[in-house]
Amino acid sequence: MSTIDNTSHETVCLACPSCDLMFDVSSLGDGETARCSRCQHFLTTYRADELSRVMAYTISALILLILACNYPFLQLESGGLKSMMTLPETASRLWDYEMQGLALIVAAFIIFIPAFILILVLVLVGALMMERHYHWLRPIAWLIFTLQIWSMVDVFFVGVLVSLVKVGGMASMSMGVSFWAYAVFSVLFIPAVYGLDRAQCWHRIEALRGS
Ligand SMILES: [Zn+2]
Repeated sequence: MSTIDNTSHETVCLACPSCDLMFDVSSLGDGETARCSRCQHFLTTYRADELSRVMAYTISALILLILACNYPFLQLESGGLKSMMTLPETASRLWDYEMQGLALIVAAFIIFIPAFILILVLVLVGALMMERHYHWLRPIAWLIFTLQIWSMVDVFFVGVLVSLVKVGGMASMSMGVSFWAYAVFSVLFIPAVYGLDRAQCWHRIEALRGS
């Protein structure tokens, strides 16, 4: 497998994204990070087990997201009235209250965009691990690095926690399986998506294309 590692004798050059100074990062060891010597901008971090690590986080996050969408998220009880909500219902209830635009945004940012990104990562990392080159690897990598800034998983969960503190004084609450699944999912999502080093990812794709 082609990587930016110290066992490879080929020169791997990277331009600093900030000041365009060129660096040879082929001698990085496991866990080492390269920064620009002129402006200290981050260049790349080499991890020998990056692909298997990202794959494990991605599969775990996808399983947890499926669990989170299929089990009760939260149950509220006040004055003898009970109300149970699932994760998809956080969006569909907004739709019922005629806030269709907001419902679509919530559903997109907490379920569909994260799921789409994880599936793209799964496909890309799967192809890189099998050392198969496909013409769609570059567009998929571009989509992953573009979409990752639009995922609001952590923002949503912090928002839920803040809401729970406010609602806690008015009703008794019990968190369902979905709540805990989404909590762990929001933690695993970050290393699954951001664990993919951009420079190494492009280098691997280029190496497969040239092989
Ligand atoms: Zn620089």
